[in-house]
Amino acid sequence: MSGRFADLHTHTHHSDGTRTSKEVIDVARSHGLSIVAISDHDNLAAYFEIKAHADTAGVTLVPAIELSCELDDVDVHILAYAFDPHDERIETRLRGFRETRQHRGYEMVNRLRALGCNITAQRVDELAAGGAMGRPHVARALVEAGYASSVAAAFDQWIGTGKPGYVPKERFRIEDAVLLIRAAGGVTSVAHPSLYPDHEQLVPRILDQGVDAIEVFHPDVDAEDRERYTNLARFRGLFVTGGSDDHGKVKTAETLGTIKVPEGVIGAIMERIE
Ligand code: AMP
Ligand code: ZN
Ligand code: FE
Ligand code: FE
Repeated sequence: MSGRFADLHTHTHHSDGTRTSKEVIDVARSHGLSIVAISDHDNLAAYFEIKAHADTAGVTLVPAIELSCELDDVDVHILAYAFDPHDERIETRLRGFRETRQHRGYEMVNRLRALGCNITAQRVDELAAGGAMGRPHVARALVEAGYASSVAAAFDQWIGTGKPGYVPKERFRIEDAVLLIRAAGGVTSVAHPSLYPDHEQLVPRILDQGVDAIEVFHPDVDAEDRERYTNLARFRGLFVTGGSDDHGKVKTAETLGTIKVPEGVIGAIMERIE
């Protein structure tokens, strides 16, 4: 089938987005998107929850996750696609990451309480709602309790990297993430390449770890970087991916519907799920 469009980067309340998986599918559909990947951080729950509904709605759902990795202590996000969603090694790793995310969330709450912010682990738990707990949940608790004027301000003042309430998170080595996904039949892509410090130097080194693609269509990747990274992908014989990175109402703007990737571009993903 030709003429279809994809959004391969979305989040739900199973990680740090605010939408339900049904909302992601239905809103994507309303924007004319018929291939969707829900790429929650460290959690595949949305895929199983919404697969049948996506089928009914005529939306091809691509198994996906966004993995937090590191290279030289820089936080690098690797998107994984079209792996076997029933792969046990992947589920075991993800469960482990979700557990350490929860402990880390509680540790941030303890630090913030020591700093005078009267927020509770219980409230952060409620906001995470059983999904992968992240800093955005802690940020929302800070905003609710009046210790920051917005989620962005909460990061600036309290929990951004290096701020007083910040606690680092367990991260994958990129190479290990690539091997795990590849062993389950999937492919990987460097998320939002232009968001990393010194990205022109860093992205080629990320690709050296065996990553298959670069996310060149993303709200934070401008035209110049899109061209830069499209050329780099071509030069290395890799492919490109794209998505809105929609988190619903957590970030300043809802971005679902703003990125439409032509199906022809992501053949390497489509051939793995059909
Ligand atoms: P975590 O994985 O728990 O460290 O949280 C990282 C997530 O927080 C990212 O995926 C973004 O969605 C969000 N985030 C990071 N920095 C900011 C910021 N300055 N303002 C708002 N959201 C942010
Ligand atoms: Zn996120
Ligand atoms: Fe990301
Ligand atoms: Fe994301």
